[in-house]
Amino acid sequence: MPNHSCPPSQKHVPSPTLVVVGGGAAGFFGALAAKQHHPELAVVILEATARPLGKVKISGGGRCNVTNACRDHRDFAAHYPRGQKALIGMLARFDAADTVAWFEQRRVRLKTEADGRLFPDTDDSQTIIDCLLAEAKRLGITVHTNTKVTRLTKTTDGFCVATNHGPFNASAVLLACGAHRPAYDWLSALGHAMVPPVPSLFTFVVNDPRLAGLAGISVPDAMVSVVVADQKQPLKAEGPLLITHWGFSGPAVLKCSAWGARSLHQTHYKAQLTVDMVPRLGFGEVEAAMAEHRQTHEKGLVINYPLQTTAHPPLAKRLWAALCRHGAGITETQRWGTLSKKQTTRLIETLKRSQWQIDGKGVFKEEFVTAGGTALAELDLATMESRHVPGLYVAGELIDVDGLTGGFNFQNAWTTGYLAGTAIANRFEKEKR
Ligand SMILES: Cc1cc2nc3c(=O)[nH]c(=O)nc-3n(C[C@H](O)[C@H](O)[C@H](O)COP(=O)(O)OP(=O)(O)OC[C@H]3O[C@@H](n4cnc5c(N)ncnc54)[C@H](O)[C@@H]3O)c2cc1C
Repeated sequence: MPNHSCPPSQKHVPSPTLVVVGGGAAGFFGALAAKQHHPELAVVILEATARPLGKVKISGGGRCNVTNACRDHRDFAAHYPRGQKALIGMLARFDAADTVAWFEQRRVRLKTEADGRLFPDTDDSQTIIDCLLAEAKRLGITVHTNTKVTRLTKTTDGFCVATNHGPFNASAVLLACGAHRPAYDWLSALGHAMVPPVPSLFTFVVNDPRLAGLAGISVPDAMVSVVVADQKQPLKAEGPLLITHWGFSGPAVLKCSAWGARSLHQTHYKAQLTVDMVPRLGFGEVEAAMAEHRQTHEKGLVINYPLQTTAHPPLAKRLWAALCRHGAGITETQRWGTLSKKQTTRLIETLKRSQWQIDGKGVFKEEFVTAGGTALAELDLATMESRHVPGLYVAGELIDVDGLTGGFNFQNAWTTGYLAGTAIANRFEKEKR
């Protein structure tokens, strides 16, 4: 049984010691920054699993979307549904450019894709893992794998970190264990307000016969609006929309899921969804385009000739046919020239304002994140140190910050890990003097 009282004889760890709980992106970055800036500090990472950096490994479809090329701090911070304001200040201390420079100084080249996402040029997340592990080894950081922290206690001169392999004494602790629920309890017991965890970045389950046979089709540019019961303003997001076997996914849906993570959770993921498949055109413009299209294709079957405009690429034929059939009652043999006024109006309505019922939350396997965590008011955001317990620091997903897809969640981990690590180093540098 681990001894939680941390008598000095239990485990000899040189002092001062930083114990980092969690060997993920934030934990490694914090540990590395602390050791780099204060080499005399003993730094220990405790990781519950057999392999540290497990999420880095699976991130970005195995490629690891490290950060984003968006350079303006305000624009960058606008990608965080929670923590936006705090991020502006934190990015001023360590931003995406610093992340790129940090990796490049360690011979990891990052390449920028057309949409601004940055990946290692090897297209392999293992490159990031290898870099972080090699750096930890070079600096003399001890990584204890299969070491699960079970309790955190404040002692007179530091902390006692209880694990399945016995307790560790710590002069300072960096909690970077992601969305690990027990950490919420440790922090709460030490007097911190915790924002309850809810999932973010998910897809919408829509059980609707109109979607039958359409899985895999995407709409390159759609506007989705979600009305959640208690909210006056609908959540809106524009971008590609993907039809899946269970409903809707794609960047537009993921953005809405992130901004509405908390309100959708409250309504048990039941909400009204409106999809505009031609958002760059107003109703009048669609009507005009429809009239022109009708003239051009008077004798053509409606389902064979999807509406074409200069503003949008034509919808996939299968989707167009389904919209015609279900939305406007257009039969398979009906020609453009025979469309009634009512059918035309219904088709325009369907294109601009089709209604769907969200029945639940689906999983976006590529990336998901937990909203909630340590309330930001509980931390000094320049150092990530607790305002209640000196020497206790929190970083990464365990703080109430989460971002959209695109490298923003890792940037939160790099930034807050780095801030915590350098602050811890400074703390012990000062004590030395
Ligand atoms: C499938 C997937 C893909 C993703 N892809 C991307 C992407 O490409 N780009 C991006 O920006 N974001 C991505 N994310 C989000 C990103 O992975 C997280 O935001 C990021 O990993 C958070 O880092 P962290 O260090 O705070 O937490 P984590 O990465 O979760 O690390 C926490 C670590 O703590 C350990 N731990 C937990 N409890 C204990 C305990 N009691 N004792 C000891 N150790 C413990 C865990 O095992 C884990 O290793 C993805 C997420 C998922 C799930």
